[in-house]
Amino acid sequence: MYLKSIEVHGFKSFANKIVFDFHNGITGIVGPNGSGKSNVADAVRWVLGEQRVKQLRSSSMQDVIFSGTENRKPLGYAYVAITLDNSDHQLPIDYEEVTIARRVYRSGESEYLLNGTSCRLKDVNELFYDTGIGKEGYSIIGQGQIERILSGKPEERRELFDEAAGIVKYKRRKATAQKK
Ligand code: ATP
Ligand code: MG
Repeated sequence: MYLKSIEVHGFKSFANKIVFDFHNGITGIVGPNGSGKSNVADAVRWVLGEQRVKQLRSSSMQDVIFSGTENRKPLGYAYVAITLDNSDHQLPIDYEEVTIARRVYRSGESEYLLNGTSCRLKDVNELFYDTGIGKEGYSIIGQGQIERILSGKPEERRELFDEAAGIVKYKRRKATAQKK
């Protein structure tokens, strides 16, 4: 499984629709300060269901919508879609290619799409349990995160090992069953 593309439109500094295509290898994104490199990583976090505005370096959820510049009007919504190659079926879904999209409007209205069909945040979360990719996964290592892992509480570190060991989905199911 690998990341094939990221599409952003109206997300943070990306006013125009832009598609980043990746190949099965290493890609570096370079550019001057403030040109939007970190915004690309934020877009991936966001589409994977990040709800904590601080993690997105924003002050509110609507803050991720392009807010305009001197010569460009603000946009009404933010849209991000990522496409993953799933030909090895690491994601528990029948598709060879999986596209997750998220859209939010200034009104606060928002939606998630899985291969073009509207879905719940829960579906997105469940798809990525134990893959290391979900928003709690370790596929996006942000600034200061290594430090936090090393100096974190044992329980927090345990969560990371659970994800790597692939037992998160069983733990979640157990917790849901116990609640019923
Ligand atoms: P550095 O090299 O300093 O880490 P960077 O390339 O990672 O820089 P980012 O942090 O990704 O840069 O981008 C910051 C830019 O994104 C700022 O210019 C900021 O004004 C712009 N930006 C963030 N949110 C929005 C928004 N909602 N609308 C318009 N522009 C935004
Ligand atoms: Mg940066």
